[in-house]
Amino acid sequence: MVASGTFLEISIARRPGILSRVASELARSGILILGQDLEPVNEEVQRIRFRLAVDSTVPSGLKERIEAIPGVERMGRLVQAKPSDQQLQELLRKAFHEVSGSQDSEITQTILNFGSSLPKDTRDACLVSLGRKIGNGAYRKSYSLGSPLDLPTALDRIVVPELRKFSPVSTSDGSRIALAACPFCRPQDPEPSCAYLAGVIRGLLELSPTTSAVAVTETACSHQDTGSPCEFQLSQ
Ligand SMILES: [Zn+2]
Repeated sequence: MVASGTFLEISIARRPGILSRVASELARSGILILGQDLEPVNEEVQRIRFRLAVDSTVPSGLKERIEAIPGVERMGRLVQAKPSDQQLQELLRKAFHEVSGSQDSEITQTILNFGSSLPKDTRDACLVSLGRKIGNGAYRKSYSLGSPLDLPTALDRIVVPELRKFSPVSTSDGSRIALAACPFCRPQDPEPSCAYLAGVIRGLLELSPTTSAVAVTETACSHQDTGSPCEFQLSQ
């Protein structure tokens, strides 16, 4: 089950057909259902817990229309649930294991799922944390031998090959890198997830003594400005 998001609980009779009528009424009201859990309350009643893509309001009249469906007992209020710090650490640990065990082609979806399970206020920080762990691992595995590289060289030899797995990239000034087609910033998602890449860049560079103090700032994002690349500025 997803720990955070906007939830709506509706109690219905344990008979076939009711759930689908409720779901289509929500759809007709323009509410997008992201997921659902069903649990029995007693022998006659079960509770559906919908996870919805809305923030805080229910269209007027929806409660009445839902409760008018035969077999619907009661519709609750929308509830915003936030994960505890412990749940966030658990989500992070789980995502790290999934990403570590994934093929390059599957990583993107894992990251997008992780991003969408996070509340807005901690989302970027969690994506950066995950990226750093993954970047640290990739550095140790493939780049930690040999003499430390200065920032422009590390950008070309370490950051570029790792980010090229996701999108065509270009660099400039020895300190900027741009992704022409960032897969973490799809226009259909409510929020971008390319903070993950800022974390990966930091994680790839911070274990080397010559680039340990590097700061990574996202200076442009294709999610905000469609058609532009996602661009990161490195400084130390
Ligand atoms: Zn972006």
